[in-house]
Amino acid sequence: MEIIPIGIWGGYPKANSATSSFLIEHEGFHCLIDCGSGVLSSLQNHLPLEKLDAVVISHYHADHIADIGSLQYSRLIQYYLGKPAPVLPIYGHREDEENFAKLSYKEQTVGVGVSEEEIVQIGPFEVSFCRTIHPVYCLAMKFKVDDRSVVLTADTEWRDELVDFAYGADLLISEANLYEEHVGKAPGHMGGSEAGKLAKLAGVNQLVLTHLPLHGDIQEILAAAASTFNGSVELAEVGKPYTISP
Ligand SMILES: [Zn+2]
Repeated sequence: MEIIPIGIWGGYPKANSATSSFLIEHEGFHCLIDCGSGVLSSLQNHLPLEKLDAVVISHYHADHIADIGSLQYSRLIQYYLGKPAPVLPIYGHREDEENFAKLSYKEQTVGVGVSEEEIVQIGPFEVSFCRTIHPVYCLAMKFKVDDRSVVLTADTEWRDELVDFAYGADLLISEANLYEEHVGKAPGHMGGSEAGKLAKLAGVNQLVLTHLPLHGDIQEILAAAASTFNGSVELAEVGKPYTISP
């Protein structure tokens, strides 16, 4: 399987970029993970929109869902042009029914409920979830094919349960939204040192940092992660594919 960063920012995007989002692909099946601000534009550098097969949403903050409406319009316009695409499933939790309802739109997209109690099959991926600590209900995700896995923390502050959830993953994509001076003071997010600690305790092969802050020098976040994790660690780079071979 292959996973490509589509956006890397937390909160709002820098010019000509997007908030944290990833495209995961295996055997021609394409699944978008989160769909925040700028994502629809950035995604088209990697995939025609009609080739998207599924979307999974971690939580309903704007930097993770802002472009859902534009995605729905893109399907509707294709339909009007006589090139209808299959109904697009958008997976999200049902702890917020008002926002969950917005995942369904005409005949174009349909919301599908997920929870941390069940594993869902999305194309070739076996996907499981783990609740995070964030101001709103949010789910970390694990995408598995055979014995290979990618774990994405989504938005969270430190939570011990994430160590078990991420244990043995080939790739951990962790949020690292905080500079070290804010760790433990800003609710709902982690710093680089915590992302590194999570990677170390979970014994993962590789760590990629995302949901980065727009201010300051993000190399400091990378350095903080490298101070707690000896393995391969880097800042997510838009368009760079990470391949996990069987
Ligand atoms: Zn959030």
